[in-house]
Amino acid sequence: MSEFDYDLFVIGGGSGGVRAARISSTHGAKVAIAEEYRMGGTCVIRGCVPKKMLVYGAHFAEDLHEADRYGWDISGAEFNWTRLRDIIQDDVSRLEGLYAGTLGNADVEIYKERAVLTGPNEIKLASGKVITAKYILIATGGWPANAGCPGEEHALTSNEIFHLEEKPKSIIIVGGGYIANEFAGIFHAFGSDVTVANRSEKILRPYDQEIVGKLQEMGEAKGIKYRLSAPLTKIDKNDDGTVTVHFDDGGEPQTADVVMVATGRVPNSANMGLAEIGVELDKSGAVVVGDDNKSSIDSVYAVGDVTNRVQLTPVAIREGHAFADSVFGGNPRTISYENIPSAVFSAPPIASVGLTEDAARAQHGDDIKVYKSDFRPMKNVLSGREERGLYKMITQGPEEIVIGLHMIGPESSEILQGAAIAIVGKMPKQVFDDVVAIHPSMAEELVLFK
Ligand code: NDP
Repeated sequence: MSEFDYDLFVIGGGSGGVRAARISSTHGAKVAIAEEYRMGGTCVIRGCVPKKMLVYGAHFAEDLHEADRYGWDISGAEFNWTRLRDIIQDDVSRLEGLYAGTLGNADVEIYKERAVLTGPNEIKLASGKVITAKYILIATGGWPANAGCPGEEHALTSNEIFHLEEKPKSIIIVGGGYIANEFAGIFHAFGSDVTVANRSEKILRPYDQEIVGKLQEMGEAKGIKYRLSAPLTKIDKNDDGTVTVHFDDGGEPQTADVVMVATGRVPNSANMGLAEIGVELDKSGAVVVGDDNKSSIDSVYAVGDVTNRVQLTPVAIREGHAFADSVFGGNPRTISYENIPSAVFSAPPIASVGLTEDAARAQHGDDIKVYKSDFRPMKNVLSGREERGLYKMITQGPEEIVIGLHMIGPESSEILQGAAIAIVGKMPKQVFDDVVAIHPSMAEELVLFK
């Protein structure tokens, strides 16, 4: 008999925690998991999944607008926010059930309550029950950062935006990152007046700025406003329910139905007893871990957004899986953080892997070549839509190893996933050139770079 109640106790039922719990159990560990809210975590409940469904809903706006040019009469088409909102929430509940079911099938015991650490091997549940475990895994994710100004309580975040009572006629989105640009595209397509307001002069700073420039140009052309170099200073709530947002940019305050703040996410580690038992946290509150996901306490590990390494679901899943294989599967391993492909589901979407042009130049000087294809997708030609796509390939050295691929255009996230394999495989451009094009397609631009 073990001296502990469980071999592993996972706190947090999101992507990383669920994967770690399930795989550890299949490796023979006795596992329990605690989740205080809904099983599935940010991605499933109030992130990637419902957001992507809204993105699909938003696509209909463009398609319906252009349907006429493709021979369809769609007069009378109307958008109903509450219908889409409720259908999405039903599906989120279905997925939540699947997550719980998967854990149950894997013999993981589920505690639907908050858990805090009371010792290196001890957890206390909200009900008062005290549990011991040989290992504890912190997988509590992140939380949207507050606006950090007077009136911040009047701002919504990505947590609440999925539950709006009605579609806002106007929305100010503070921030210039993933969430701001994705929701700008969504609400603009639904007919809202959208302003993206960012503290600095650039949006999507980590992405290739030529690609980002195209997004902004296309956003402006369709009516999205960008208020840049505009730090947020105050939010007032008006008697009619609207909000007036003040910026330190010399401009006038701006009034809208809704203000949403999307200025990054902070690790969800407060009031969990972590510091009290000696787990080292960094300035942002992230659990400090090594490549093996182990914290400063030998029995306490952490994966996913609470470690603030790369805030992406597939990364958290890989970390959780590697933890389980290492600690319970007899296969100690770490994951690679190099060449992680990513996408912004803006309108149109951006997708990227490897070094941006600026980063490649900083790292390799003149030893790089940049190939570009700036094209108008065939579908847009017939419909009369002016929007263009831009693909960039960055190669390095005489062998022209592809070290970066960056795209904006319809379906770019779908197209880049396959191409990313070549970047991770460190393939030369010649391999792309040797591939016969699929014609007509947008993806063929990848093998036709001159
Ligand atoms: P991001 O990190 O993408 O962007 C943050 C934005 O907020 C930047 O434009 C930044 O401006 C600005 N900002 C940062 N700090 C402050 C501050 N203190 N005051 C004012 N502005 C500030 O954050 P998001 O909230 O959009 O998304 C959070 C994370 O969630 C992302 O980093 C991403 O990892 C993940 N995510 C991934 C998605 C995907 O994969 N498609 C979709 C949604 C989220 P500046 O440029 O000046 O720094």
